[in-house]
Amino acid sequence: MDNRVVGILGGGQLGRMLVEAAHRLNIKTVILDTPGAPAKQINATHDHINGAFNDPVKIRELAKECDVLTYEIEHVDVEVLEELEKDRENKIEVHPHARTVRVIQDKYLQKEHLQREGVATAESCAVESGPGCVERLKEVGKKYGYPFMLKARTLAYDGRGNFKVKHERDIPEAIEFLGDRPLYAEKYAHFVKELAVMVVRTRHGRTFSYPTVETVHENNICKLVFVPARVSDNIKSRAKYLAEQAVDGFWGGGVFGVEMFLLENGELLVNEIAPRPHNSGHYTIEACATSQYEAHLRAILNLPFNDGNTFLQTPSTCSIMLNILGTEDPQSYLQVAKQALTIPGATVHLYGKKESRPGRKLGHITIVAGSMTEAEFRLSQLLGPQQTQQP
Ligand code: ATP
Ligand code: MG
Ligand code: MG
Repeated sequence: MDNRVVGILGGGQLGRMLVEAAHRLNIKTVILDTPGAPAKQINATHDHINGAFNDPVKIRELAKECDVLTYEIEHVDVEVLEELEKDRENKIEVHPHARTVRVIQDKYLQKEHLQREGVATAESCAVESGPGCVERLKEVGKKYGYPFMLKARTLAYDGRGNFKVKHERDIPEAIEFLGDRPLYAEKYAHFVKELAVMVVRTRHGRTFSYPTVETVHENNICKLVFVPARVSDNIKSRAKYLAEQAVDGFWGGGVFGVEMFLLENGELLVNEIAPRPHNSGHYTIEACATSQYEAHLRAILNLPFNDGNTFLQTPSTCSIMLNILGTEDPQSYLQVAKQALTIPGATVHLYGKKESRPGRKLGHITIVAGSMTEAEFRLSQLLGPQQTQQP
């Protein structure tokens, strides 16, 4: 399909599913991550680089092996990406552009950027850590009320950089929990649902959005995704519009995951944006014309992409995605995976992670059906009926 080699920073499950999509199109991918990382396991080539995806030396090594550089995680060394973009000699392209990573990887810069672009988000402010932080947060509490969120600006994932400050007396614990990381505070969003939209941005800046989905989190980790979201058509189309508007303001090609809060009064706020394939878009592999992974490859390589590529397989297609998370028992995740093999319309994805840890994403199951009732029934066969009701 294309002779250009795609280098991927990070070889976890998102990288692995990018590799799967690339294989079908006969596009070569090279991965930078630790030996035996999930994406390397299914990609037989000697060109992979062993090392950390935030190590500048290793990123330069990867750049020598490829024509287009992308990433499955935003916590990468952005300076070296900028340096590679400027270096006209090696002709490497980075998508989405380094500038996009720079803004997105600092969640407060991201918020400021979105606000400048006129995209609705929760009100937020930077908070200097160190001496006097308690007093500063007391002021935030007066302004935003309780609860409010204290968040790490960088290196956050699965809610690990977040602390919900419920009372003024929680402030010292919040500071202790987040340590000396750069911080910002955010007004609490009393949401009725969390929604997400995957948006494809072509290298020419055109955007195409996938259907609006509903994400259900447990302990800050995404557990279930319902497709389409169980909300009115009006909310679904406003969410798609907001997501496209948010992604319009970034730079370079690729897919973007846009997480949103739906408030009681119908208002939508963008929570955060990922410049890469996203957990809430796994369902696109089975339920849509073209998956988010193939969409990402087409976008970064400037291959054709159209409206119809983001459509559900049929107008009545419904889907539920269940993340398979590790528990205290390292083998338990296999039980649900095996059970899913008995359910029609269920597809199992296991990521090949070497260790199971509580809360770790080890795989997922996508159920596809002709109606949400049918999809929910199939999910109840996996989980039991009480766990599948609307939260
Ligand atoms: P991810 O794995 O999605 O990158 P993250 O560590 O960046 O997660 P966030 O997306 O900021 O974390 O927050 C995780 C979850 O915490 C959200 O999906 C939501 O359920 C809750 N949350 C975050 N911010 C707020 C807020 N301002 N008000 C209410 N709930 C919030
Ligand atoms: Mg995040
Ligand atoms: Mg998030």
